[in-house]
Amino acid sequence: MPEYRPQPRLPQQQPAAWPQPRQPARRRRSKKIRNWLLLLFILMLTASLLVNRNDELARKLPFVRKDAPPVVQLHPIVEAKKDELIAEAAKLGISILITDDFRSNQEQDSLYAQGRTSDGSIVTHARGGESYHNYGLAIDFALKTKQDEVVWDMEYDGNGNGQADWMEVVEIAKRLGFSWGGDWERFKDYPHLQMDFGYSIEELQRGYRPPDVLLEHE
Ligand SMILES: [Zn+2]
Repeated sequence: MPEYRPQPRLPQQQPAAWPQPRQPARRRRSKKIRNWLLLLFILMLTASLLVNRNDELARKLPFVRKDAPPVVQLHPIVEAKKDELIAEAAKLGISILITDDFRSNQEQDSLYAQGRTSDGSIVTHARGGESYHNYGLAIDFALKTKQDEVVWDMEYDGNGNGQADWMEVVEIAKRLGFSWGGDWERFKDYPHLQMDFGYSIEELQRGYRPPDVLLEHE
């Protein structure tokens, strides 16, 4: 029987490098937070670059404001379409009067007071800055009779063609690109015609304005 000789113990092989002891949890967390902050910063930087370069995008973001000079008159396109409306109506033998076009915020506020804190009946639900009139994007019309009387009679048929003049004017206006207050769901405003060019009141309040020249072919 061979003599049992225990194998000499091999010296324990040491790994080339011991695993680094794990960093304390607090240090790991602060590194994580730092990474997140860095990511957030990069995201915000990208967003602000995009917003600055893209006005259309900025317009849609509720927190972006733009410095805009105050509006003091009708938008040039609305002004031109207003003249066209008057001329087109005249061709049908209908005389119209533009009773209101651009309205300052102050004028709007006193109109809002009418029927509320001052005499008269309520004519608007918009305070200063809440109406398209305040941005030169709306007009109001009335009819003029043969006797030069101004009327708001929606049945009046001055040209005697069997159609109400009022609705004939509305039809022309819509063809010219106006939208009509008589189509509003909540508060019908029959003399009111506006061109919003796709801008909401909220966007206008933040300083965004429809361009003077629209790139569209007619
Ligand atoms: Zn109006």
